[in-house]
Amino acid sequence: MPITVRVGPSINTVRKLDNPNRFASVELNRTPIPGSGAIRAWQMNAHTAPVARSRDCIFQVFEIDVVVHFIERLNLPKIKRGWFDPNPDHPSGYEADAPRDPSHWKLDVANVSVHEYSHIMDVVRAVERRLNIEFNQAGVQEQLTIQWLCDDEAGAYQRLFALAGQRLQAMGIAEFEQLMARFQQHQAQSETERAARRAQIAEHESR
Ligand SMILES: [Zn+2]
Repeated sequence: MPITVRVGPSINTVRKLDNPNRFASVELNRTPIPGSGAIRAWQMNAHTAPVARSRDCIFQVFEIDVVVHFIERLNLPKIKRGWFDPNPDHPSGYEADAPRDPSHWKLDVANVSVHEYSHIMDVVRAVERRLNIEFNQAGVQEQLTIQWLCDDEAGAYQRLFALAGQRLQAMGIAEFEQLMARFQQHQAQSETERAARRAQIAEHESR
């Protein structure tokens, strides 16, 4: 039976960004909790079946929920002086004392955060795709199937969390760091950047 992995974000917002060129940034939070990495399983579900002539059960994982921890940094002085040009060909933000055109709107934290959230969800979906492949590779399911005392469900899950954690740790987060870095380059024509600006426009239109 395949293992289904669901992934969601956890975002820690910091109201300080020392980069005059950026309204905001996002990065993976490598140490969100002592002893934990940026990518962490927080919920698991296993089928259980009793083992004949024994007090043991087979616990077989079929569902894992994973959280990816991010840090979002906001450049408040820049946002305060920021405007947004929703030109459909080149939507973009800029800093000025006044808008260059009456169709431009004032940037604010909510609008900028919608932009960053769009990047975050692009990363979350990429992690989810990757983990669903990873946890369904040959041999992984066997690793996440254990024989354990039926009465000690808590102990069984503790063991299963440790095993899943080892798997996540073995994978590392280098490739997600790279993915994040690509998203951070903010190339105006990249798909993630276009999606983020579309999200910003939609958020403003919904006001
Ligand atoms: Zn962006």
